[in-house]
Amino acid sequence: MENIIRKSLLNKLYKEIKKYDEIVIARHVGPDPDAIASQIALRDSINITFPNKKVYAVGASVAKFRYYGALNHPNFEELNKPLLIVLDVPNMARIDGIDHLNYGNILKIDHHPKEDIEAIVEWVDENKSSACQMVAEFILNTKLKLNEKIAENLFLGIVSDSERFSLKNTTYETFDTVKELLKQSNIDFTSLYDVLYTRPFNEYKFIAHITNNLVIDQNKLGYIKISDEQLKEFNVDVATPSNLINNYNFIEELLVWIFITEDIKNKQYKVSIRSRGPIINKIASNYNGGGHKFASGARLQTMEEVDNLIKDLSAACANYENTELQEKES
Ligand code: AMP
Repeated sequence: MENIIRKSLLNKLYKEIKKYDEIVIARHVGPDPDAIASQIALRDSINITFPNKKVYAVGASVAKFRYYGALNHPNFEELNKPLLIVLDVPNMARIDGIDHLNYGNILKIDHHPKEDIEAIVEWVDENKSSACQMVAEFILNTKLKLNEKIAENLFLGIVSDSERFSLKNTTYETFDTVKELLKQSNIDFTSLYDVLYTRPFNEYKFIAHITNNLVIDQNKLGYIKISDEQLKEFNVDVATPSNLINNYNFIEELLVWIFITEDIKNKQYKVSIRSRGPIINKIASNYNGGGHKFASGARLQTMEEVDNLIKDLSAACANYENTELQEKES
């Protein structure tokens, strides 16, 4: 039954795409591999399926993600109410690169809890590992075409967002989808891990700095405040801490951990949060943030707000530990 409902939703998405000559595909600000890869894979698939359509992938380019392919920004003034497809983002404020775009309808494919984006057709499923898994299922279950580069990008996004198939939203469907991608494309997937996990040595020195300076409180809440000066010292950028935070997924003494990074350019603190138990996205949403149950982020203006967030997350850890204890005793 579920499969029939999904099939009809995917057909609706496909039919909307078919109607438009001009399509703009966007994703969230501060992209990660899943956001970038899903965006470029869908653009390329629509391009090879419908060579006469003009399809654009917009938003800020990130040098370290150039393996996935280049973005292509149109002059928005020359477009005539294109279809806007948003991937991997639930709220209008965090869509990157659509300022001054006069779009027609919106289509949405996302695995975050629903927020304010209203689309004419939307496929939202919090149980999917990644936006790339959803785009892969979309391509594999409609007449959209696949090639090797598209399959590579989708594989990279799935592996990255599921943290190598280890996070809770990895399901048998994730493996089914990956199996089908590999079967249909024959990509050399083991060599792709280099793209995601090879890092310069200075990043390993930075990991050592985080490990040595992470403060862990009595409730198993870990946090570190990283200044702009320290980013410069280790020659890393403001996005690096969130790329490294999953390295701490298997530490016994941690339930929730937070990396707080000074973002001088945007005059704010960029906060990444991960959890091995307590649900954190509701707490993050009280601090100009959001995300998934166990992987969230926030942007804060003052250190006072940062300290309040730390307190709230520490309280959530204490609650979680108490509930676990009571359950064990009962
Ligand atoms: P990050 O720690 O930056 O990798 O983000 C983890 C998750 O939280 C991702 O799903 C992001 O889309 C989401 N997220 C990060 N920052 C924010 C924010 N300021 N508002 C809402 N969601 C966010």
